[in-house]
Amino acid sequence: MNKEILEYQLFIDGQWTAGESGEMMDVINPSNREVVARVPRATQGDVDIALQSARAAFESGVWSNKTIDEKVEVLTRATMAVLANKDKLAWLEALTSGATLRRTSFVDVMSVAGSLAMSAAILKQLPEVEHAICPPWVAPMHSYTIREPIGVCAGITPWNFPMILAAYKFAPALAMGNSIVMKPASITPVTTLELAKILTDAGIPPGVFNVITGPGASIGNYLAAHPQVDKIGFTGSTEVGRQIAHLAADGIKRVTLELGGKSPLIILDDADIDMASSMTLLAFLTHSGQVCESGTRLLVPRKMQDQLVEAIIDKIKKLNIGDQMDLATDLGPIASAQQLQTIMNYVKIGQDEGAQIAYGGNRLQGGIYDNGFFHEPTIFINCTNQMQHVREEIFGPVQCVIPYDDLDEAIAIANDSPYGLGGGVCSTNTTRAQQVAKRMRTGSVWINTWHILRPDVPFGGYKESGYGRENCYHALMAYSEVKHICQDLTPDARSSFIYTFLGFNR
Ligand code: NAD
Repeated sequence: MNKEILEYQLFIDGQWTAGESGEMMDVINPSNREVVARVPRATQGDVDIALQSARAAFESGVWSNKTIDEKVEVLTRATMAVLANKDKLAWLEALTSGATLRRTSFVDVMSVAGSLAMSAAILKQLPEVEHAICPPWVAPMHSYTIREPIGVCAGITPWNFPMILAAYKFAPALAMGNSIVMKPASITPVTTLELAKILTDAGIPPGVFNVITGPGASIGNYLAAHPQVDKIGFTGSTEVGRQIAHLAADGIKRVTLELGGKSPLIILDDADIDMASSMTLLAFLTHSGQVCESGTRLLVPRKMQDQLVEAIIDKIKKLNIGDQMDLATDLGPIASAQQLQTIMNYVKIGQDEGAQIAYGGNRLQGGIYDNGFFHEPTIFINCTNQMQHVREEIFGPVQCVIPYDDLDEAIAIANDSPYGLGGGVCSTNTTRAQQVAKRMRTGSVWINTWHILRPDVPFGGYKESGYGRENCYHALMAYSEVKHICQDLTPDARSSFIYTFLGFNR
């Protein structure tokens, strides 16, 4: 692909639409700071228009009244359309987010397609009607429940996995017949815009899927608070998630929050060092640590700390860190200058707190690194769980090694966190690993692996990592209302038990 700057517009009512203000925002490649795209800086007026369009589409029934078979057919076409556009989507995702092209080409696009396909498959299996199991109550009654769309949804997503996290919201929302307005992060809006066009071409009617681009503080906040929004699906920081929860509470809106984490990885004393070191890299270095469920508190038996850290460093030295568009690259850049600065600040905090750096600790410099935002994988050793850089989410390639003396202590440390998103256990003993997994207070636990998020299993957090679950059956439930319909089959009021009993038919 060439180096032209891609120009986008907002996607509202099935069409590209220039924003009200005419102002544009630059989207850059974090490897070299080159501007690769421009998107509109939407205004609150644009949000109003997008929501009117979503509301009108919803009320018209053009999508909300479709049968399950009709929706499944469109979602299946959308799945195929995503796969047909695989190369373009993967390329744009890597270019703007800093994720390696190797990963986006396989994992990210397949995940988006998987979310659509799985939502369609689960929708097809859901009973259209559930009949009350009790026999006629005090009077002959026909009593049953159905699921209905909630209405207009807002999907607000962060910059680390723009496509995947958008699909976690729009796939179940669409499957259940809702309309949605997506607001991607300002630095990575491009693939969500591309998906809007792809889905609309695949048969999602105009107005059902809209995308507005602009800063969270102005339009994200306005969108979440808007009376036309019935449900908010938010992924992002715990700080902003808390604000969204307040806004949702004010409007009694339905809300799903996927927030931050500081996930613990417990190495058991029977662990294989080669597996433990590879698992550590997978847990904290995937996407240079910019993953909400990253394993960034490494609990190691004290006597194994030196040997394990040596094995980890050995593997880090073999990684290729550089241009994310090169298929040989293992780790790309940090997504933004702001995030790089956050990482550097936390490394300084860790040093000031007395944790020792066993590897890294610096911004990468020289050659290609000078134009972009690159940071060395960094290992702090001899940390305690009370240190600020160990407790707070850094969102970068920084591992905090905490030595422990017995397993109960390790589990207590693992659970001593305001977060509860991911957790992991490394062991050669399946029974022990499973027992430890059950004692961790987190929404996911991985044993001898990490980051396995599947469209057919729920994903979400305990504690301040959020509430609600994305993916699979749980997500479809979170984007629908349940309605009980009850019909008294007594032919007339005079012979009705209820009217007679209450005296309303005299
Ligand atoms: P962020 O909270 O700053 O922003 C997330 C989204 O919210 C963006 O689209 C942003 O524009 C918007 N936003 C910002 N302020 C807003 C406001 N006041 N009202 C409404 N919207 C607002 O997060 P980020 O920096 O983009 O992403 C990193 C964070 O996301 C990390 O904390 C990470 O752990 C979290 N995250 C969580 C998950 C998960 O599934 N739990 C996944 C990925 C990222």
